[in-house]
Amino acid sequence: MKSLAFDNRFVHELPGDPEPSPHVRQVHGACYSRVMPTPVRAPQLIAWSPEVAALVGFDEADVRSPEFAAVFAGNALMPGMEPYAACYGGHQFGNWAGQLGDGRAITLGETVKVGGERWELQLKGAGPTPYSRRADGRAVLRSSIREFLCSEAMHHLGVPTSRALCLVLTGEEVVRDMFYDGHPRAEPGAVVCRVSPSFIRFGNFEIFASRGDEAVLTQLVDFTIARDFPELAGPPEARRAEWFRTVCERTARLIAHWMRVGFVHGVMNTDNMSILGLTIDYGPYGWIDNFDPGWTPNTTDAGGRRYRFGNQPHIAHWNLLQLANALYPVFGAAEPLRASLEHYAEVYDDESSRMLAAKLGFEEFRDGDAGLVDTLHQLLTRAEVDMTIFFRKLASIDLDAPALDPLREAFYSEEKAASSEAEFEAWLATYAARARSEGMTADERRARMNAVNPRYVLRNYLAQEAIDAAEQGDYGLIAELLDVMRRPYADQPGRERFAAKRPDWARQRAGCSMLSCSS
Ligand code: AMP
Ligand code: MG
Repeated sequence: MKSLAFDNRFVHELPGDPEPSPHVRQVHGACYSRVMPTPVRAPQLIAWSPEVAALVGFDEADVRSPEFAAVFAGNALMPGMEPYAACYGGHQFGNWAGQLGDGRAITLGETVKVGGERWELQLKGAGPTPYSRRADGRAVLRSSIREFLCSEAMHHLGVPTSRALCLVLTGEEVVRDMFYDGHPRAEPGAVVCRVSPSFIRFGNFEIFASRGDEAVLTQLVDFTIARDFPELAGPPEARRAEWFRTVCERTARLIAHWMRVGFVHGVMNTDNMSILGLTIDYGPYGWIDNFDPGWTPNTTDAGGRRYRFGNQPHIAHWNLLQLANALYPVFGAAEPLRASLEHYAEVYDDESSRMLAAKLGFEEFRDGDAGLVDTLHQLLTRAEVDMTIFFRKLASIDLDAPALDPLREAFYSEEKAASSEAEFEAWLATYAARARSEGMTADERRARMNAVNPRYVLRNYLAQEAIDAAEQGDYGLIAELLDVMRRPYADQPGRERFAAKRPDWARQRAGCSMLSCSS
């Protein structure tokens, strides 16, 4: 396997924990603790992303070598790797949770390419760290498959995200109580290598603010700007203000993308919010089948449904507010923080309007379109209509004779289709008139709409089918899904089944509509 260049700036430029042992503890005054991955019995590579391998600098022969599986299972290090777990805190479900940290993630190192492109390689499920609290630092195969596939699916959908290099079986079992209800079972263990320019989270800053450690907080802010936002220049105060504004902007864009494709993160705690505005920490996430702003995939969130689909824009703002509070001691003034929080709302509104207009095939969002969108959202919710199929089919309706028939496939219930038919036809008539005013040809309109409305998304039941097969030792569906999700906007003849709406069996099945943080 060829070597990579590592510079590991996080551990070289920031204060570390002097204590070398992995025992669980509160770590003060340090951004990380050095910790080695715990070796596993029998590493077996079961999936990898060719695009990410190329980004990092591996070719197929590297990936197929036994050293590769050993390194990405945590059994060996490449020269230059310096493993560590980061210290962070966070607000979970709206409450300050104190120190969290990488409890089951271990960064191996930051590799830098010739042009300066940086990729942090991080194992998830590689064993205990000082931040593992009561858990074991391991991950189960089902969650690892979900993280691996979704990271890549999101990237190909054009949504900012961490990436996934590979998925390795450990040959060991992990015991999990999937719904915390007294039914633990042994499951196959796995390790995912995820890849991102940075895994710094809002919570990395919050922990130092909560402890009144302004020195390290300031150091971390300036480090993050220098390493991860090198385009920002100017004197420190102006640069920091510009940085927070950028974080707000990127977060707004991220959430608009989630709303566009029907992604529900499920655990938008501040420790799961990337400072780069990427989707990170794929846990009990889910995809919208029937359009429902009130839906959350996470059973842990079922009570308050804080992280429901329609609440994501609001929660992102709340999370940015917590970050702003944490940054206040460094800024010493509330005004730039406050202005950027307002800027979040403006950017989100702009992005969201642009996105909605594009989904409907309009050049731009006009006065009056808001009503059209609201009515549509209400109808889609009430009539239980599949979001992905609906928008895809909408691109092909005849604007001169708009009718519900071509959209029928998107309905989950014939009864509801029948009872809402008149309202849908009324909406379609208004919509068609508005769309006609754009003056596009039918082909042009379809091409534009199909470029923002995916045909293929990683529906919960599809990931679950891949998991069921993998638990029986068949990894073929993981590879096939990865391949389908590479071109989510293209019609892929022969692969219609991957665009089908959720089958009945998946409606209430664990893993499909119900997930938990237990992974
Ligand atoms: P999450 O809800 O997955 O973002 O996790 C919240 C916190 O719990 C993070 O600090 C994780 O590192 C930690 N955690 C989750 N699962 C495990 C595990 N299996 N072992 C150790 N720590 C974990
Ligand atoms: Mg997390």
